[in-house]
Amino acid sequence: LIELDRAHLVHPVASWRGHEASGARMLVKASGATVTDAEGKELLDGFAGLWCVNAGYGYESVVEAAAQQMRDLPYATGYFSLGSEPAARLAARLAEHAPGDLNHVYFTLGGSDAVDSTVRFARYYWHSKGQPQRDQFISVANGYHGSSTVGAGLTALPLFHAGFGMPLDWQHKISSHYAYRNPVGRDPQAIIDVSVAELRAKIAELGPERVAAFYVEPIQGSGGVLVPPKGWIAAMHAVCREHGILFVADEVITGFGRTGPIFACIEEGIVPDMMTTAKGLTSGYVPMGAVFLSDGVFNTIADGAGAAAVGHGYTYSAHPVSAAVGLAVLDLYEGGLFDNGIAMGQRLMAGLQSLADHPLVGDVRGRGMLAAVELVVDKDKKTPLPAAAAAATRVFDRAWQNGLVVRAFAQGVIGYAPPLCCSESEIDAIVARTRKVLDLTLDDP
Ligand code: PMP
Repeated sequence: LIELDRAHLVHPVASWRGHEASGARMLVKASGATVTDAEGKELLDGFAGLWCVNAGYGYESVVEAAAQQMRDLPYATGYFSLGSEPAARLAARLAEHAPGDLNHVYFTLGGSDAVDSTVRFARYYWHSKGQPQRDQFISVANGYHGSSTVGAGLTALPLFHAGFGMPLDWQHKISSHYAYRNPVGRDPQAIIDVSVAELRAKIAELGPERVAAFYVEPIQGSGGVLVPPKGWIAAMHAVCREHGILFVADEVITGFGRTGPIFACIEEGIVPDMMTTAKGLTSGYVPMGAVFLSDGVFNTIADGAGAAAVGHGYTYSAHPVSAAVGLAVLDLYEGGLFDNGIAMGQRLMAGLQSLADHPLVGDVRGRGMLAAVELVVDKDKKTPLPAAAAAATRVFDRAWQNGLVVRAFAQGVIGYAPPLCCSESEIDAIVARTRKVLDLTLDDP
């Protein structure tokens, strides 16, 4: 299998020449929070696949919903105003959960095309308002918004730019709130003040009448699980409001109970103009993403288009099987998984905090079932591990050997996003196995 994989399968975000990161391991089965590899080894999935299997693996109700939908109607295009029952029902249930007036749902295949869709919708919104010159977009350093050309440009991680001609010339960044390594220190108000000033300066530089939209992740995921200070999101939202700039919350990771509430925006007390989701929407059983549009954005675009079609869409938009899975997953969330996730999130954060005195741990951060431990060799100086990328690979390997799947970020950060179905003993095992990995790494970094 591994030979076939290396010869023919092109992997995302992996070395195309080194073996380690590319197809060196095969998973064959999964149930609950446990995955099994081709050699029969069982591991706790501390990262829910790629922060997406929020419900957990192996739910028969989800499998049955997909199978039944495939029997009844495997495909119906959303084009030409056609529809399907599961898509309509899922959109309605999601709108009920969404904050404020985010009442309109546009289904995509995943997160990248959800982000792309918001860029298209923002442009069409300003076109409809007679302000087509609003064509500049701002996002935040350390952010991740997908791997499409548009999403990778809004992303601010060097790996996604170098060699790809990114970012595009209408895509701008302000610096991150990254508290642990912030030049102004950890003081929340100081971090907020700097970001507000930077956003204001960037808007002034581009011209307020030129800025279409501002993008944030409520917690930056791929940048290393960076949690903004309380009030940071609301402060950035307020600056956008001053200039009528559209505020887009990218909840592809934070959505569907990952941080506690169904959407992280709810806890921040803001209602974005558009919100992107994916991952936990179908919990990884099938692909799907969704853009939520406010009444204002939806109606402006609809009125602007009038009787003409709005020319944007995918063959698999609102796929009936994905929608049926979305409904079955939502039943699981509402039936107790969201509540369990909140309880287990507290246990996970407390458990990881108990590692804070380990000599290698510089920072422990997160919210709910989304967390990270940042490794350093000198706590006072916050010195990163030497050859951090290679050290991260060793951390990943050691975790694997000890029955734990985590994300080991190249900068020496261990990321956690376990399924919401985890039991207390599984959360405790994630923490205990992490301590073992840290001890092994201390002996041999
Ligand atoms: N936005 C965010 C915040 C993400 O974390 C991701 C994926 N990790 C995406 C967008 C892109 O989603 P996808 O990989 O489903 O295209």
